Amino acid sequence: MLQTVVTLAYLVAASLFILGLKRLASPRTARAGNRMAAVGMLVGVVAALVSERILNPAELAVGLLVGSAIGVLLARRTALTEMPELVAAFNGFGGAASALVAGAEAVRLASLGRPLDAVSAVVVGLSVLIGGVTLTGSFLAVAKLRGSVQSTGFRGLRVVSVAVGLATLAALGLIAAAGSATASLPALIALAALALVLGVLLVLPIGGADMPVVVALLNAYSGLAAAATGFVLANYALVVSGALVGASGLILTRIMCEAMNRSLASVLLGGFGAQAAGPTASGDAADRPPVRSTTPDDVALMMAYGARVVIVPGYGLAVAQAQHEVRELAEMLQREGVEVSYAIHPVAGRMPGHMNVLLAEANVPYDQLIEMDEINPEMGQVDVALVVGANDVVNPGAREDPESPIYGMPIVDVDHAGQVVVLKRSMRPGYAGIENPLFFKPNTQMLFGDAKESIKAIVGELKSLQPA
Ligand code: NDP
Repeated sequence: MLQTVVTLAYLVAASLFILGLKRLASPRTARAGNRMAAVGMLVGVVAALVSERILNPAELAVGLLVGSAIGVLLARRTALTEMPELVAAFNGFGGAASALVAGAEAVRLASLGRPLDAVSAVVVGLSVLIGGVTLTGSFLAVAKLRGSVQSTGFRGLRVVSVAVGLATLAALGLIAAAGSATASLPALIALAALALVLGVLLVLPIGGADMPVVVALLNAYSGLAAAATGFVLANYALVVSGALVGASGLILTRIMCEAMNRSLASVLLGGFGAQAAGPTASGDAADRPPVRSTTPDDVALMMAYGARVVIVPGYGLAVAQAQHEVRELAEMLQREGVEVSYAIHPVAGRMPGHMNVLLAEANVPYDQLIEMDEINPEMGQVDVALVVGANDVVNPGAREDPESPIYGMPIVDVDHAGQVVVLKRSMRPGYAGIENPLFFKPNTQMLFGDAKESIKAIVGELKSLQPA
């Protein structure tokens, strides 16, 4: 009876994961989808703990309370700009949990003196291997995202990585050939140590700019580790949830690579964004036309007299937390009869969907958010493109300069608009560390300063233009 209830609970959990994932596809249903998947996880965890009689109800309640308190605290204290770090840390913990559970199962079988067939042994080994790589790789990714580790390696790193990779395969072979759980333990311990080293070696050469892609890939790894552990324990819910995380992580990795026009191999081999690059071949600084800076008053007038304004948000919008002010500005312009929309680049910001999340937080209507591919053909009819803290995603060098490191990356063609106003604090480059020829174009003006303050000033000016 208990087993039937537990199996049903796993089925419910797996269904909630799938339905939740489906709902994440639209900003309208994403919150509900997230809640659904969280309930699925709760059902799965409780079912697993009850079925194995691991905890009594009181211990279960305490565990849930402590876990929920940590979750609430983390969610409240983490700024949106730190989300990639948080996701990376979660991946690391997920990988560690999978490796520990699979390892514990091997130790349990050894204590019972059980034989271990080659297939089960390899699955245990894979779980420990992928989990270990995910653990150290993810925490190194966190350190790189924070900028506390900038090193991209040392001489001979690739040779060492290949040697460790081969040693890992040898350890896996020994585990498969051991024949019993007891005999496999020494090789399993060696494999765990090698996996931890391999995680560091794999992430070390990758530059800071590519870390979000690495985080998505490590997310896929953590799912694969969980699925492998699900096979070890014959736990369907874990197999399904692991497979979902693995597949969605891989799809996300692919989408991000395509949006940056990079191959996964070029990301993994590393180097991009590791150091700030100088100006690209698009010209010498001395040959550049001067940069034209403007004032909030002029920008307010320019937009108030335009028929169509497109706002292009980027990472700086998240840093400045200017989403509410941007919405206020858009609403004021709309009241004056100006058509306003937002151009959304798929990798603007520091995580997929970053701009959608920010603008949704400020209650910007979804129908005003237009994808890059859809808005680009219309940019020629736009009077003013207001670039709010975006840089790489509006860099025309990606279209025009074959020497540019981001050549071929799709961009929002703001330079095709009648006038371009760029809100940023300085002439510093964006994440890719490269100069942006947009700032020197004759139809571009720079409004220097924190984006939130600049927009507040534009809004103030627009208010003063309105009849009393
Ligand atoms: P960028 O990082 O290219 O540029 C952001 C700009 O915002 C900076 O130039 C900065 O200039 C400005 N800025 C920062 N703080 C403020 C502030 N308070 N007020 C005004 N401006 C500010 O961002 P984009 O969104 O254009 O591009 C994203 C980059 O991240 C791309 O290179 C993309 O490939 C990469 N990336 C994105 C991923 C994703 O999933 N979204 C994943 C992996 C990589 P200044 O310092 O002068 O103010």
